Amino acid sequence: MVKQTIQIFARVKPPARKQQSGIYSIDDDENLTPSLEIIIPRDLADGFVNNKRESYKFIFQRIFDQDAKQEIIFENIAKPVAESVLAGYNGTIFAYGQTGSGKTFTITGGAERYSDRGIIPRTLSYIFEQLQKDSSKIYTTHISYLEIYNECGYDLLDPRHEASRLEDLPKVTLLEDTDQNIHLKNLSLHQATNEEEALNLLFLGDTNRMIAETPMNQASTRSHCIFTIHLSSKEPGSATVRHAKLHLVDLAGSERVAKSGVGGQLLTEAKYINLSLHYLEQVIIALSEKNRSHIPYRNSMMTSVLRDSLGGNCMTTMIATLSLEKRNIDESISTCRFAQRVALIKNEAVLNEEIDPRSMIICLQKEIQELRDELALVTGEQRTEALTEAELLQLEKLITSFLEDQDPQSRLEVGADMRKIHHCFHHLKKLLNDKKIFRNSTVSSEIKEPDCQEPVKEEEYKKLRDLLKQRDNEINILVNMLKKEKKKTQDALHFSSVDRGEIRLIQSSPFPLGNPEGQRTSLFSASTQSQDCSMLGSRSSLLHKKSGMREEMSLGRQEAFEIFKRDHADSVTIDDNKQILKQRFSEAKALGESINEARSKIGHLKEEITRRHIQQVALGVSENVAFPSTPDQEDRLRSQLEEEKRRYKIMFTRLKALKVEIEHLQLLMDKAKVKLQKEFEAWWAEEATHLQVDSPAANSLDHAKPSPQSPESQQDQSQLLSNQSVVSARKVSPSPCPSPRSPEQSSTGTWLEGSIPERTTSSVPLTGDSQTDSDILAFLKARQNILQKKCLGSN
Ligand code: ADP
Ligand code: MG
Repeated sequence: MVKQTIQIFARVKPPARKQQSGIYSIDDDENLTPSLEIIIPRDLADGFVNNKRESYKFIFQRIFDQDAKQEIIFENIAKPVAESVLAGYNGTIFAYGQTGSGKTFTITGGAERYSDRGIIPRTLSYIFEQLQKDSSKIYTTHISYLEIYNECGYDLLDPRHEASRLEDLPKVTLLEDTDQNIHLKNLSLHQATNEEEALNLLFLGDTNRMIAETPMNQASTRSHCIFTIHLSSKEPGSATVRHAKLHLVDLAGSERVAKSGVGGQLLTEAKYINLSLHYLEQVIIALSEKNRSHIPYRNSMMTSVLRDSLGGNCMTTMIATLSLEKRNIDESISTCRFAQRVALIKNEAVLNEEIDPRSMIICLQKEIQELRDELALVTGEQRTEALTEAELLQLEKLITSFLEDQDPQSRLEVGADMRKIHHCFHHLKKLLNDKKIFRNSTVSSEIKEPDCQEPVKEEEYKKLRDLLKQRDNEINILVNMLKKEKKKTQDALHFSSVDRGEIRLIQSSPFPLGNPEGQRTSLFSASTQSQDCSMLGSRSSLLHKKSGMREEMSLGRQEAFEIFKRDHADSVTIDDNKQILKQRFSEAKALGESINEARSKIGHLKEEITRRHIQQVALGVSENVAFPSTPDQEDRLRSQLEEEKRRYKIMFTRLKALKVEIEHLQLLMDKAKVKLQKEFEAWWAEEATHLQVDSPAANSLDHAKPSPQSPESQQDQSQLLSNQSVVSARKVSPSPCPSPRSPEQSSTGTWLEGSIPERTTSSVPLTGDSQTDSDILAFLKARQNILQKKCLGSN
């Protein structure tokens, strides 16, 4: 905001004919404020003795004497105002003085010489020169030319002006908005893109004024003319516009009615002239006095139009034109007095900035068009508002093939068209909602998530979680089993160290000696082996269910099977496989977790990249700046993304291989178990046959009371034990089939430590006959009791 009193200048017109000197004097000492002293000639004083003042002194900003050229006037008075206008402030220069004092000459200029051109053409020239120099802003210049005659406004630039009388033209009227801003209705604004066009308008208006002037209508001297330059400026791309107006005002003559001395029309004109100047004076008095709340701008059209110029948002300058002739002394003094009051008025000029909605719309429309063009350039396609039916179909096909693609690296490529991207999301959402995605997915598909761009189904997650849980359970069982195994081994070792001699006794056991410790553990197997039923996990139980064998087994057979299994050579392989399986499960579990981590990382990185893109685009739109790019950060994000994808792929491949390995191991174990079962059956049959053949009278033995036997009486014990099952064995197999014995067994009656007995393919059917099974159970129990007692006895 610039606070400034109205600047007042005085210009003295050169006299038409040689004048006597001594009427006025100008004191323009640089150190003092310039002053104009008007001296009243003695002959004008009433009488010889009077009290009238002989001189009047007025202070001005600057006083231009008769020889002041138009150039000087412009440089000192108009140029500073023009500069303010170029900076965005409103400006007004008005000339006030009696008719013939040189107002028109000062404002518009003389009609004869180029050098006589006045403030308006010089200002126009200066302004356009400055506009051309300044390329940082976009300027728009409009011209209006208003004439106020008899309190009516006329547009001097109205195209109909030439064909009409002044009075027949549409009146320019005042409109006041809610903010008390004055608007002029019917006043045309004409754009001038250069000095020439603006000058043409000035001359057009002056010509119109001249044409309308008739002898009966001396408008040129009796009307006020306001030539206004409307200047708008804005920076390229900005919607903020600065508006500035420069009023160059040529007021009507300030002479008094009394002096005009005419009647009729002229008197009316004089009355109006004076009336409007009278109102101007009242406004100025009101403004110059402090604490005046009401300023009577509305009393006349001229004060209303110049409202901002007087005590408002404007940098205003007044030029008091003086025709200091003897006969014009009173008028000159009156003009100077008026100027002194005007000089008291303080104005507050502000920058007139506003957001132009039209500019804003144009800016945004331009922006949209540019972006569309850019998109069309990138995609090679012309953008329309919506996707065509064919495009939509094509997209849906792409999505389907993307979802069906097993390749983890497959991508859904739809280009950079946001409409297509949005449609893809919508379509995927729809599919998800309809539960159409992965409808037929199998267990193997639970880790079939090759492209992490696609959101994983909840169903898929659930399957993965369940699988992990299942594997965890299996691992726990395996761990328990291992613990038990360890304990058993330790216990067995303990017994082994207690009485090594007892081993010999056990060597007569009909159980196969898979490993040297196998027979020792048999003492404790009955209590612990039942838990091992589940040690092979779900697959084993499934197998048992399938075969139905386990359910059919009597307790004795079950026990025998457990012992057989434990001592079987294949049990080592099975145990090893279990260990490997356990490792693989842990590895798969860890890999599954890492894969999930990698997937979420990839998701986050993609989100981050997209977010950055959107931010950059938004920034570009809002600030109308070039697309800000941060290639380093984006490259970093992209390389991270690629690295994560690579990791994901490696892990995924490993998990796939692991899964195959796990499946394979499980199959191997199943196979080993079937083999074990078969061999047990064969052995069982053989043993049953053997017992039947070797001990026909064994059934008479009271097996409930087994007598302690020395290891030496192995043959007897064997006989004894064999006798236990003779009856039932006979029942089972009426035609005994003795199995061939190994040479060692045949000669010594004992299996050598570490040797594996040969088995016959017995034809004795073991059909799960409960009686037979009970007999064998009794046999086993008796055998265990003997061993136990032996062990305890040695302690
Ligand atoms: P006004 O508009 O105040 O009635 P004009 O500007 O029409 O007066 O001036 C009246 C006459 O005086 C014109 O012929 C004009 O050329 C002449 N005149 C006015 N001021 C000057 C000046 N400073 N130098 C030379 N001639 C002037
Ligand atoms: Mg004039």
